[in-house]
Amino acid sequence: MTINQIINKFKENHPKADTAILELAYEFTLKAHGSQKRKSGEPYIQHCLHTAFVLVQIKADLETVIAGLLHDIPEDTEYALTDIEKDFGSEVAGLVEGITKLSKIKYRGIERYRESLRKMFLAMARDLRVILIKFADRLHNLRTLESLPLEKRQRIAKETLEIYAPIAGLLGIMKLKWQMEDICFKHLYPESYKKLEYKYEVEKKLEQNQYIQKIKNTLNAKFREAGIPFELTGRFKHLYSIYQKMQKKDKKFDEIYDVFALRIIVPNIADCYKALGIIHSLWRPNPGRFKDYIAVPKPNGYRSLHTTVFGPGGKPTEFQIRTQEMDEGAKYGIAAHWYYKMKSDGSSRKQPAWIKEVIKIQKETADTHDFIKKIKFDVFNDRIFVFSPKGDVFDLPEGATPIDFAYVVHTDIGNQAVGAVVNDKIASLDQELKNGDLVEIITEKKRPGPSRDWLKFVKTSTAKNKIKQNLKHSVLDNIKRLIPRIK
Ligand code: MN
Repeated sequence: MTINQIINKFKENHPKADTAILELAYEFTLKAHGSQKRKSGEPYIQHCLHTAFVLVQIKADLETVIAGLLHDIPEDTEYALTDIEKDFGSEVAGLVEGITKLSKIKYRGIERYRESLRKMFLAMARDLRVILIKFADRLHNLRTLESLPLEKRQRIAKETLEIYAPIAGLLGIMKLKWQMEDICFKHLYPESYKKLEYKYEVEKKLEQNQYIQKIKNTLNAKFREAGIPFELTGRFKHLYSIYQKMQKKDKKFDEIYDVFALRIIVPNIADCYKALGIIHSLWRPNPGRFKDYIAVPKPNGYRSLHTTVFGPGGKPTEFQIRTQEMDEGAKYGIAAHWYYKMKSDGSSRKQPAWIKEVIKIQKETADTHDFIKKIKFDVFNDRIFVFSPKGDVFDLPEGATPIDFAYVVHTDIGNQAVGAVVNDKIASLDQELKNGDLVEIITEKKRPGPSRDWLKFVKTSTAKNKIKQNLKHSVLDNIKRLIPRIK
């Protein structure tokens, strides 16, 4: 990677920008990092360049790209933030400061998780661009993960899947989310990754191209008749989302029919609906799978029409219909939003409503537990946070029950559970918990142990294993009790 590649790419999006400052930032970074090397043996400057390049790819602004080049200077070199401020101004220095703060995480385990989550939200609330730099930095670190020891590799991959990827999704930067997820998937579940990757390649090459060609031929004629110029691309879903779907629904690869979607790009919104009409007139739609994200965009700003039809040969086929601008928005999320905003009216960066909400909550709440509790946004769509009466926070998978909670708190509490109180109301032990629930477990010391029926509804492997262990125990205890009498 060279600075010229970055400058050229940046000029594609901002043809009139004065990019001399990028060269200055490069020279400063080169001087500051000197002969430092990465674990991989590569010169350190390569990490700075790659980070900046990812930022250019997601259409970040000039200050963000400069800060991307400089991001590791205060942490890893003899130069300080004040040096950066002197040469590049307070805006760039502020971004680098945000990154430096974000990288200082004190705790381990669940505390570490909470701390980094809180820090991410705080940084976002101050300046969203800090998070973009952090994502770019993390993506390059993930790409060079091979040179780290296994344990560290897995820790970073897990943290990325649990914190970074969901936040990227929340900001609508799907391109980064998917890239991060697939790399983490490869490192955390190498066997499943390899298997899926192989199937994917086979299916992709043999089947998809022919199928897309067939659809393209049909659509070409119809769209020409209607006078709508269009662009059709076939896209396979990224591996990790297919893997998640297989896990969630307990299905095999061949049973997941929406492994790819066809994307149709048309000039304007009216054409989107016209295109939808054409597609529905050609193939029978599945009414349960139509979504109008143009009329009702997703919270992260995503806009598109989605429909699944029974295409040629009755094959269920998903179409995503959108304009060029919507397509950029879907890939680059909040970053593209700024880009279009600046291009159209030169106005300042608009933050989505929920960011403002986070800032407000953050101002009102000093306590981390409260802070997370109050953030009701669906950041972790497959995780929930619940609270013990003492105010401790526990994160559980979606659909978890009071019994899952009980075993996460303590094995004895699980074994002795006889009832639950959720938000001050008596609840059944198999009730699904929700984000922010306050859960109290009623225990009885004399309870002989877990019930076999609990295995039918618990969601966590912790609870499953502990129930099984303790069931065995009680059988064993019974036998022991019986033995003296038999004798
Ligand atoms: Mn870095």
